[in-house]
Amino acid sequence: MKEQVCKYMAQNARIFCVTLSDAVERSAEMNGLSGDQKALLGKLEAFACCIAALQKVEKASVTARISLPLVGVFAATADRSGIVRGVWEGACDGKEASLEVTLQLFLRGTYTGVVTGTDFDDLTSGYFSRSLQIASACKIFSAEEGFVCIAAEKLPGEDCDLEDLCRRAGETLPFDAVPEDFTFLESSELKFGCTCSRGALLRLVSAMSPEERAELAENGKIVTHCNSCGKKYTFEV
Ligand SMILES: [Zn+2]
Repeated sequence: MKEQVCKYMAQNARIFCVTLSDAVERSAEMNGLSGDQKALLGKLEAFACCIAALQKVEKASVTARISLPLVGVFAATADRSGIVRGVWEGACDGKEASLEVTLQLFLRGTYTGVVTGTDFDDLTSGYFSRSLQIASACKIFSAEEGFVCIAAEKLPGEDCDLEDLCRRAGETLPFDAVPEDFTFLESSELKFGCTCSRGALLRLVSAMSPEERAELAENGKIVTHCNSCGKKYTFEV
């Protein structure tokens, strides 16, 4: 499955189709995830890429954090430039499932929206129907070792059946087919990546007091992980 976001026009709506595969493999590997955890993180990364693609601000960045009782807390970050990464943050302490989406819109500021619900599908479709300013619908699933997020966004004017557009888009677009009434607009590549660096983490470790460093160290080493991609860094103390 290609790693990309494709945009189409159909009836009176814009359709987005995000497909991911290797990017999710990289995240799963760095975080040491099980198959079930990978399946969830993959869908969340596809969702974050889709929300990023919907933004008009060039430098937009989206972080989607989902908390599922008994399953865990996952976070995926996608930049409008096409870079995506995800982490498993650990067990979920709360009793309620929730999805928090933070949009960083560069000079326009940062916006956070939270929805509560029952499970992954309920939370993500709830976000689309309640938190976006325009009528929209989404469909997120895994297929052929990859992850897909389809979104339909209604344009001003005539009504159209967004659920039906999403369903037909999901059955065709990820598999290199295009419904007759869809017009291709553009596509852009997606890939795994993170802005973390050894230098930035070293500055954090250097800024700690010797006592703090001693507390974190084990056998003369501090082992830490990037909060965005899960990459492991080791520093000698
Ligand atoms: Zn990182």
